[in-house]
Amino acid sequence: MLPDIKSLTREELQTRFKNWNEPVYRVTQLLDWLYARRAMAWDAMTNLPKQLREKLRENFSLQTLELVRKQGAHDTTQKFLWRLRDHSLVESVLIPANPALYSDASDRHTLCISTQVGCAYGCKFCASGLDGWKRNLTPDEIVEQVLAVERWNEEKVRSENVERRTEGGSHLAPPTSHFVNNIVVMGMGEPLANYDNLMKALKILNAPWGGGIGARKITISTSGLAPQIRRLAKEPMQFRLAISLHSATDEMRNKIMPVNRKYPLKELIHACEEYQYEKGRMITLEYILIAGANDSIDQAGPLASLAHKLFAKVNLIPYNKVDGLKWERPSEEVCEKFLTALEKQKVTATLRREKGGDIDAACGQLRLKTERELAKTV
Ligand code: SF4
Repeated sequence: MLPDIKSLTREELQTRFKNWNEPVYRVTQLLDWLYARRAMAWDAMTNLPKQLREKLRENFSLQTLELVRKQGAHDTTQKFLWRLRDHSLVESVLIPANPALYSDASDRHTLCISTQVGCAYGCKFCASGLDGWKRNLTPDEIVEQVLAVERWNEEKVRSENVERRTEGGSHLAPPTSHFVNNIVVMGMGEPLANYDNLMKALKILNAPWGGGIGARKITISTSGLAPQIRRLAKEPMQFRLAISLHSATDEMRNKIMPVNRKYPLKELIHACEEYQYEKGRMITLEYILIAGANDSIDQAGPLASLAHKLFAKVNLIPYNKVDGLKWERPSEEVCEKFLTALEKQKVTATLRREKGGDIDAACGQLRLKTERELAKTV
């Protein structure tokens, strides 16, 4: 199979073009087609000579993602289910503006992206790991999730403008060059288990010639792979780090997150401290509140201590039910009490109050549902 063109950095393309005796400015033109105009076919790149387009076609693929399903309304969380070239399915989730969550008030559109097909880490409450791990996503498949949502938005704006024009309206929305301006790497898969492909994809999404999304607007979440957190600390780019913690005690974490047996809290905390020492950046602790498991006030104490130790803020996320799993979402009252307990201990914490249950909001749930429906039809 040919490598995809969107898995190459500008430097790699420059080397290739040099070997082909093509002038360097052709690389700039190509990048403009790929990331500014988000071209889906070689023949669309009309300012590249035909023989160069042929050479590119012979050496690289130009894959796009096929939208299989989309759920969610205009101003709420929207979930996209994509089909990859080998017919695997992955999800991306567009999260409406919520400054409290991952960044500052100017952020408007956050996209949560996947890094693997399935997941090997088997967290007990998670839909993504239910059918195990299938494969890592390639850099272009990670990058394409952002580009595909940009294309979808462009199409939406275009059709809304047509509707307004038909109705005699004059306020046409301008096309936005970068609709997605915030990324959280928190979808299907353990991002740091696909480290090299992820770093390459984020380099492309971050570059001014690529996605143009600032490193500080990119949050990488991990279930706790301590060695990779240490490696991330040495990267030159200033990504944000979030830990999918879900309990601040080894006893509970061992029960719901098998990764904790390999990297217990002590080791995870050391790695986080190293990350902070190198980066000087605040870490976020993600905490899914699961009824009867980690939502008791006893669990808030250790969480508060850990948040203080790491100078971290806490995001509380009420559990979204997964078909086939026993876990339940706590009541709103329990979630509010947990938040209050943290706030009383002077922890900076937020509670996600949006309702996502109606769109199979648990990560991996839409893919699982679709795969099971497809299996029934075969
Ligand atoms: S929560 Fe994350 S690490 Fe755990 S099984 Fe799900 S996708 Fe994998």
